[in-house]
Amino acid sequence: MLGQHKLIYILLTLCTVLLVWYTGNNYFDHQAKQLYRDSLVKEQKIVKDQINEAIAQKQESLMAMAITLSESLDLIELDRHADQSREMIKTLTKKLKEYTLYKNIWIQLINKDGISAGRSWTPKYGDNLIQIRRDLQQMLKQPRPIENISVGKFSVSLKAMIPMFKTGDDKKKKFNGVIEIIAHFNSIVNALKKYQYQTLIFVDKSYKKQLTRTLNNTFVDDYYVANFILDQKLIEQVNQLGLEKILYSSSYVEDRAHFYTSIPIKNLAQNTIAYAVVVKPLNLFEFTELHNFTQNAQIILASLILLIIIGFIIFYWRQHEITKQKNYFKQVLDSSPGIMVILQEKKPIEVNRGFYDFFNNQSLPEIMNRIGCIDNLFIDNEGCLSRIMGKQSWFDYVLEHPLEHHKITIHYMDKNSIFSVNLNRVYQDSSDFYIMSLNDISQLEHYKNELEHLSQTDSLTSIGNRYYFEKRLQEEFDRSRRYHHSLSLILLDIDFFKRINDTHGHDIGDIVLKELSHIIKDLLRRSDIFARYGGEEFIILMPESNIVESEMTAERIRKNIEQHSFLPVKSLTISLGVTQLTKEDDIKSFIKRADQALYAAKNNGRNQVMID
Ligand code: GH3
Ligand code: MG
Ligand code: MG
Repeated sequence: MLGQHKLIYILLTLCTVLLVWYTGNNYFDHQAKQLYRDSLVKEQKIVKDQINEAIAQKQESLMAMAITLSESLDLIELDRHADQSREMIKTLTKKLKEYTLYKNIWIQLINKDGISAGRSWTPKYGDNLIQIRRDLQQMLKQPRPIENISVGKFSVSLKAMIPMFKTGDDKKKKFNGVIEIIAHFNSIVNALKKYQYQTLIFVDKSYKKQLTRTLNNTFVDDYYVANFILDQKLIEQVNQLGLEKILYSSSYVEDRAHFYTSIPIKNLAQNTIAYAVVVKPLNLFEFTELHNFTQNAQIILASLILLIIIGFIIFYWRQHEITKQKNYFKQVLDSSPGIMVILQEKKPIEVNRGFYDFFNNQSLPEIMNRIGCIDNLFIDNEGCLSRIMGKQSWFDYVLEHPLEHHKITIHYMDKNSIFSVNLNRVYQDSSDFYIMSLNDISQLEHYKNELEHLSQTDSLTSIGNRYYFEKRLQEEFDRSRRYHHSLSLILLDIDFFKRINDTHGHDIGDIVLKELSHIIKDLLRRSDIFARYGGEEFIILMPESNIVESEMTAERIRKNIEQHSFLPVKSLTISLGVTQLTKEDDIKSFIKRADQALYAAKNNGRNQVMID
């Protein structure tokens, strides 16, 4: 039984552990994936910030350079010394390439009418730029420093434009033209390398036609790849994943090994002109938060499973202990003699072997269904409890009188059985528990009754003996006192009995005694108490009889004896003393008076009734 339980507990534990492990893993997995996605989204934001910062830095340095140039060049003389200015910017870009990190810097001078006054990368000048340059249109309209990113014929580039002014004869400054410094956007790619990013710059497909003089003529889905150095493998990778999928993703895209994100590059008018697609191998991510989380999750899950196992062990152990205790308890119950019933809210919840033995081995519910309540089996019997004791139930009566000895008589299967009853209240939690024990004392009661009868019966005549008489006398004396009923007494003695013994022998004397007692008994009422008081002396107590009635009875007895023929004794007489209980009497004086009357009858010649 216990082994079977053990197996069930083990299976239950295993199932719970598996369930917790499965659910926990799923939950943590979900959380981990979320955390992973969050860190990649965070990375995407960092990349965006870094690119914008790199662009801002680059534009600032271009602007600084433009400001410096506008001051150092004698540009006020732009129109007058155009050739000299053109030579200067050429030399300047050459020097920048030679001595600084600004390898791809181009300078253009534009006059106040929007006509190119010189370019550092080509000898060409004199062409009107107003129609094709919106930024220039803005500049001419309202001269001020402008930073821009734009797409030209060659590629996408960063620009800084500074207006130049000439002091006129009237000492007033007049707009004289623009100096424009251009840098290739590729420098941003380099700036991002230090963060372990690989970057591809894609110019928006709307510029495809405009890009007539590209450096490498490499397009992916009509998007021009504006990088100086082309990483074909990376381009292929992006192509395979789907360029537009990356470009239009709101956050990031990933394949098995790489993280991709696209940052739109906007011009002055806030139009997206290009995209920086940033790629980073996933194995370069640290995912510290994710690692910490996974580690903690594993610890939590392991602790949870351990707790469940410990919980189950404790639970099993407790159940085991409870079962053991129940078994002990059942054994104690079963080994108790008689019937034991544990009641909760006055309903039997546990019974012992003795109970089943008495009720023929049926189950408890079956028995209770059949008998309803145990007191349905009670029958009235002298000295035993009845179902209702006064105003309370027998159950409450027993509880309220714990020191008394209680008995019940049960009628079951055509048999009456007397039981002694013990009832104890046990408080457990808030409900009342009772332990009721019933011990079959039918046999004992039988012996007791028999003994009682024997102790009160005269063995020779089978009428009551002196002990019986005295007991009854006390009872009747009390009753007479309580209810003021009359009570009379007849004391009688055989006349010259010694002679009978002497003449016929002791045995005949005994027969005479027996016969005489039968005769007298037949002459009395059922309520009269007749007993052998001494050797050949008898006593009759007559409740509810006054002296007149008792004297008549005494006389009738005397006559009957006198007339009876006791063989072989033949004639026999008796003398009788009669008295009635007076107010002043006690038991002693009551008997004494009857004795005196008898004495008087003897003295008066015997065979007569005397009253006192
Ligand atoms: P009296 O008229 O004065 O009463 O004379 P009595 O002979 O009856 O005298 P008493 O009452 O003193 O004697 C009682 C005798 O009864 C004495 C005793 O031998 C006899 N006796 C007492 N008990 C028994 C008994 O159980 N069986 C027999 N056979 N005789 C008994
Ligand atoms: Mg006598
Ligand atoms: Mg006598």
